[in-house]
Amino acid sequence: MEDAALRSLLRDLQRLPFQREGKVSVLEVLLDYLEIVAVAAGEKPSHLQGQGMRSRSLLEGIEGIAAAHGLRLLRTGVVLQHFHRAPNYDARFFDWETQRERAARAREGQVLWVYRNPDLEPAIRSAADGETDVAGALGYPACCVREYNEIGIRISEAVVRGYQTEHGATELDDFIRLATVGAKVTIPPSAKPHVSHLFSYVQFSPCRRCAESSSSPAAEINWAMKRLATRLSPAFQRAIDKAVSAEVAFRKQQGRR
Ligand SMILES: [Zn+2]
Repeated sequence: MEDAALRSLLRDLQRLPFQREGKVSVLEVLLDYLEIVAVAAGEKPSHLQGQGMRSRSLLEGIEGIAAAHGLRLLRTGVVLQHFHRAPNYDARFFDWETQRERAARAREGQVLWVYRNPDLEPAIRSAADGETDVAGALGYPACCVREYNEIGIRISEAVVRGYQTEHGATELDDFIRLATVGAKVTIPPSAKPHVSHLFSYVQFSPCRRCAESSSSPAAEINWAMKRLATRLSPAFQRAIDKAVSAEVAFRKQQGRR
C-alpha cells in the first residue's frame, strides 16, 4: 500500500469510536492501530486483536475498517498457549489442564486476525490452536516468543509445586481439586515475567538477550515500527510516546502501593 492509503487507514482507525470495556489501555489501542498499519504496509504478517482484555466494540470497529481497506480477516477462538516442552509434573494433570483450557476456550469470545497474504491462514490457525507458537504468524522474534512461553510453563510448574508444598497435594485428585477451586499459591519472583517498556512500539515482551541490545531482533522490529509511525504521522508517534510515559508512571504508582 502507498503511504497515502496507509495514512487513510490510520486516520479511519484513530476516528473509531469504541467503548472502553474492561481495562483497555490507551497505549495498547495505539499499538493495535500501528500493528494493523504495519500489516497493510507489508512490514508485519498479521495482527491479533482481542486476546486478553480488549474491548469487543473496538474489535468489531477494527474488523469493519480493515475490511474496507482491503485487508483479510479471520476469527478464531482465543489463542491457546503453545508448549514447546511438557511441564515437569504429572502428565495426567497436564492433560486435565489442557482439556479444561479447551473447554473454557469454547465458551469464550473470539479473536480477530488481520492479515494480507492468503497463504498465511494455515499458520494463523495452527498458532491459534497452540500447535505452533505465534512467532511466524505475528512476525515476532522466535527467541522472545519462546522465552515468553517458557515463563508460562515455569509458572504452571510453580503452581503445582505450591499445591504440593503449601496444600500437601500428592495425588492427581488433589491437583484437580485445588485447580478447580483456584487454590492460592505463592509464585516465586524468579518465575514471574519481567515487564519492560524498553521497546515502546511493539506488543511482545522482549527476551532478556534482546532487551540488552539495541541491535537485537526485537530492537530492530521496534525501530522499524517507530519509523513507520513517524513517517505516516509524527503526531501519532508522539501520542504513542506520551501513552508510554503515562503507562510507566501508572505502573510505578501501582508498584508503590
Ligand atoms: Zn528475543
